[in-house]
Amino acid sequence: MTEIKSLTIEELRGGLAALNEKPFRAKQIFRWLHQPVTSFTEMTDLSKPLRAALDRQYLLTVPQIERKQVSAVDGTIKYLWRLHDNECVESVLMHYRHGNTACVSTQVGCRMGCAFCASGVFGLKRSLSAGEILDQVLFMQKDAGVPVSNIVLMGTGEPLDNYENVLKFIRLVSCPEGICIGQRHISLSTSGLADKIEELAREHLQLTLSISLHAPDDGSRSKMMPVNRRFPIAQLMRACEYYFDMTGRRVSYEYAMARGVSDRPWQAERLVQLLRGRPGHVNLIPLNPVKESPLQPSTVESVRRFQQILERGGITATVRRRLGPDIDAACGQLRRRRLEEGESL
Ligand code: SAH
Ligand code: SF4
Repeated sequence: MTEIKSLTIEELRGGLAALNEKPFRAKQIFRWLHQPVTSFTEMTDLSKPLRAALDRQYLLTVPQIERKQVSAVDGTIKYLWRLHDNECVESVLMHYRHGNTACVSTQVGCRMGCAFCASGVFGLKRSLSAGEILDQVLFMQKDAGVPVSNIVLMGTGEPLDNYENVLKFIRLVSCPEGICIGQRHISLSTSGLADKIEELAREHLQLTLSISLHAPDDGSRSKMMPVNRRFPIAQLMRACEYYFDMTGRRVSYEYAMARGVSDRPWQAERLVQLLRGRPGHVNLIPLNPVKESPLQPSTVESVRRFQQILERGGITATVRRRLGPDIDAACGQLRRRRLEEGESL
């Protein structure tokens, strides 16, 4: 059955024509779909026969809250959603001074296999549809009762490994007839699929591209991230340059600091050489320890020393504040815990 929330207005129009309905209904239905409705019967300005026809023709996805944790420290909310096929995904709602940011998942699990990440422990189950990514935003807004103004594609999954659906989601969520979150308020984080970064550059979107770099040398990066064997650092950096040339958007680099693996002073020096002259920004994050991984977070002193070397080299770097420290907002943790508890997810 076609998932109706994954459809654009034009696609809805096509579907309505097949039902002998007027094309103007498409916008009306689209607007309903971008609210957290739970059934077609709530679309009260549509005729009963049309609502019944839509119900027969389409699947209206409604994620259920399986678990929810609220941080007592900063109010960050972490959701575990149960999807229509009983798979589960996580999202996080963070409150900043400039607004609320939704961190959403793009896949159930992930196949990239990064050594430090809880999301990849069980591999990839399936990709999410555009509508299922949108649902996370819609139903977080509904449950928390606050509007979302920014979106980060930094939950479970590799967004560029689900390219078509993620792109469609970006177009849906930024559509003026929907919740209309501007592309400049959306960040896409990737482990570095260089070929897809180049493809994305050619779409000329105004997204912020965030690269999970985590190490400046191929030896260390390949140990942390198997994707580096396919797309080594030099190729990844060329793709980032191309992205900037095509879109004019500065790229940001995530750098998770692992003790003794990616936090050594020579690596800070190497990172300076790598990023010198490139418009961008580095976010240093102390690694979140994950049970399955031997990698440990860097000490506060080595993070500070690393940051100093970068700044001396002319590279701006911020140490990211960890939100929701008491609810363990690291991606993939809630779902993994649920899987370990033996639930049939
Ligand atoms: N797959 C994409 C987006 C989801 S992961 C990517 O890898 O970029 C979102 C971010 O969380 C990435 O920067 C990822 O490297 C980081 N991350 C994953 N596990 C982490 C951990 N244990 N500690 C710190 N950062 C982690
Ligand atoms: Fe996948 Fe990103 Fe986790 Fe790597 S860090 S396993 S790419 S979700």
